[in-house]
Amino acid sequence: MDAKLLPFATQDVPRYTSYPTAVQFQSDFSSATADGWLKALAPDAVLSLYVHIPFCQQLCWYCGCHTSVPNTYDRATRYVAALLKDIERGGALKGTKHGAVKHFHFGGGTPTYLTNDDLRSIVEAVDRAFGISAGAEVAIESDPRGMTPERARALTAMGFNRISFGVQDFAQPVMDKINRQQPYDLVARATEELRAAGFVSVNYDLMYGLPGQTVESVIETATRSAALKPNRISVFGYAHVPWFAKHQKMIRDHDLPDIPARYDQAVAINETLTAHGYAAIGLDHYALLDDELSRAAEAGTMHRNFQGYTTDTADALVAFGASAISEYPQGFAQAARDTLAWSTAIEKGDSPVNRGLATTAEDRMRAEVIERLMCDFTVDYAAVAARHGFDPAVLDQGLARLEPLMAAGLADWQGTVVSVPRKHRLFLRSAASAFDAHYKVVANRHAKAV
Ligand code: SF4
Repeated sequence: MDAKLLPFATQDVPRYTSYPTAVQFQSDFSSATADGWLKALAPDAVLSLYVHIPFCQQLCWYCGCHTSVPNTYDRATRYVAALLKDIERGGALKGTKHGAVKHFHFGGGTPTYLTNDDLRSIVEAVDRAFGISAGAEVAIESDPRGMTPERARALTAMGFNRISFGVQDFAQPVMDKINRQQPYDLVARATEELRAAGFVSVNYDLMYGLPGQTVESVIETATRSAALKPNRISVFGYAHVPWFAKHQKMIRDHDLPDIPARYDQAVAINETLTAHGYAAIGLDHYALLDDELSRAAEAGTMHRNFQGYTTDTADALVAFGASAISEYPQGFAQAARDTLAWSTAIEKGDSPVNRGLATTAEDRMRAEVIERLMCDFTVDYAAVAARHGFDPAVLDQGLARLEPLMAAGLADWQGTVVSVPRKHRLFLRSAASAFDAHYKVVANRHAKAV
């Protein structure tokens, strides 16, 4: 790693899966506001729907997700009962049902922690409440360790057509240090079973910066993963935040690669995947060249939302489950993170939403500038500002933040066009922060740039 990049690599910057980011959400937000936004959607609004399942069979030490390992399945049974009730309530508020859901995503946790019967009841409840469009993209995050041919077939029979799972690193010392035994043969078998069952898209997550990882181990994992031809691959840097995710205390600091080593691992993965025919997309995604995400990236029609990069163009994202975030034209609404608080509200017939943010016209303009930069590596911020009825001068103040990035060759600014060289994609978030009116340098508030 070039030493001049180090100060930028260590910066804490948001991931910009939304703007404003979730740290700006307010706890005095009224759930009645979110109900009003759902009711106000046009009858023919196109929806993206998200369901969060916060359970796993076993904790991976690196995990930063909102999840837990229940002692018995009873907790999941109670959770699903509350979820069904909340979906029904949401459908009643929306009022019309006409196959509005074009993207439906189950995340977690591990949604396949649930039994087939419980998963099916959730899919059916969403269809009853909102209507799942014929041809919708129906995706589920899974764990290859529990996959069987029967399970794969049961999932496609419910309508799932896309699946993603964590691969992370095949090296035994790394798997030992992260409490996740998932060797290559297991992933290869699961991939084959899912394809045989009819999944049109099988996606992997890889990581860098995990304990025990080396440039050699990530190249080996990326090479073997690419040989299995997953349709898409996401590559995330491990965020070590043991004060927030307590189980990360199981990871010893001295096993962690330092920032230059993390950078070298990310670059090595990038070189390996692109050499194996993958298009590098945005900050951290890869896709086969004939994948629709690659085509959308090429055409400048890709979007970014809480699930990362997407082709989704829905009018609203309606989310169910503890901690799940909905996004409406007017702002964001987040359900209680604590599953007891979440289910207690639902059992009383109330909304589980307890945080959120009504966005301003300026927020929405800045959101589009940031999204275009994060997706296209370039943005004409004056053109976006004009489309939203703003003088681009409103963005001037933050643009001074680009100067050190430009001096290091990590960004370019010509007239009203700001760009990031593709080879410096890891620093996209830093350049995007120049358009973030809420951005403050606060230690450990966001993940490091690298
Ligand atoms: S399976 Fe996924 S969600 Fe569950 S603990 Fe591991 S990384 Fe976290």
